[in-house]
Amino acid sequence: MKTHNFSAGPCILPGQVFEEASKALLDFDGLGLSVIEISHRSKNFVAVMDEAVALVKETLNVPDTHEVIFLQGGASLQFAMVAYNFLTETGKAQYLDTGAWASKALKEAVGLGSAEAIASSKEANYNFIPKGYSIDPSADYFHCTSNNTIYGTQMKSFPETDVPVICDMSSDIFSRPVDVSKFDLIYAGAQKNLGPAGATLVIVRKDALGKSGRYIPTMLKYTTHIEKESMFNTPPVFSVYVSMLTLRWLKEMGGVEAITARNQAKADLIYDEIDRNPLFVGTAAVEDRSNMNACFLLKDEAAHKEAFDALWKAANISGINGHRSVGGYRASMYNALDLDSVQALVDCMKELEKQHA
Ligand SMILES: *Cc1c(COP(=O)(O)O)cnc(C)c1O
Repeated sequence: MKTHNFSAGPCILPGQVFEEASKALLDFDGLGLSVIEISHRSKNFVAVMDEAVALVKETLNVPDTHEVIFLQGGASLQFAMVAYNFLTETGKAQYLDTGAWASKALKEAVGLGSAEAIASSKEANYNFIPKGYSIDPSADYFHCTSNNTIYGTQMKSFPETDVPVICDMSSDIFSRPVDVSKFDLIYAGAQKNLGPAGATLVIVRKDALGKSGRYIPTMLKYTTHIEKESMFNTPPVFSVYVSMLTLRWLKEMGGVEAITARNQAKADLIYDEIDRNPLFVGTAAVEDRSNMNACFLLKDEAAHKEAFDALWKAANISGINGHRSVGGYRASMYNALDLDSVQALVDCMKELEKQHA
């Protein structure tokens, strides 16, 4: 029986990617060696890195003004790297505080210089995306989080501003089209929608770099990694390899356009049921609902939790407990999750209603 994996991260990846990656762990390219035991400077691995970068560029229509690199340290290290590379000694950075990840990003900038949240939904446990804020035109950069994995909110548009925009897209990159030219930097930990943990994707506008005026430790400097084509030191070879396989799969699926429609169908299915079923309620503001992570509660946990948990466990559903700061349930529906998995969850919700309404 198929396990329906709704994990928020590390997340589900396509079955064909796991199969191919398993083979490459034993014998890569017919070399009689594993992909994780060959030199990262061998022509076989350099080809993997080149294809991964090329597929990112193709998939997101990355303009020539921008570089694509794979780093380590997760999205969490980007919180600090962004500040090191973009915050000037006398300038300031402005952040949109839409959740725990956004506020962790802000903390690193505050530790280095002048940075502030210009709007926050913290008081409402981050259940909506603030709007109507204005960005100071003199700011060094504006930082936002496109999808708030924990709270199930997603930015449906980005502010129009001349200030450089930097975005943490960890949990919705490659799930929908994005106009890369509007961003000076985009970053994403691989493990939400791209590959195994270990690699972090960064897309950065070249001419935005070199302006901070501060000493930047070598490993934290974007130009270090751009100049060495993500091979300044040993890259996370397996994570990059599997990410490349996922990007090949995405291309076969019809790219971001096709996956957007698929993700919309999954989101419509679950949210329609959350809204229809009298036993459940969604936690995020309707207009800001995430197509990746749907968060919802039982209206009467004491009466129905035991029965509902038994239903979804019996249906082989995994990973739908909500984050501890929100409670309830969270269905993460990353690219590789099939519509039939969402249908299996919706069937459990309907069954609960039948038993208890
Ligand atoms: C998971 C997540 C992070 C943290 O990623 P790591 O790679 O574990 O550091 C940051 N931002 C968002 C939006 C996330 O979902």
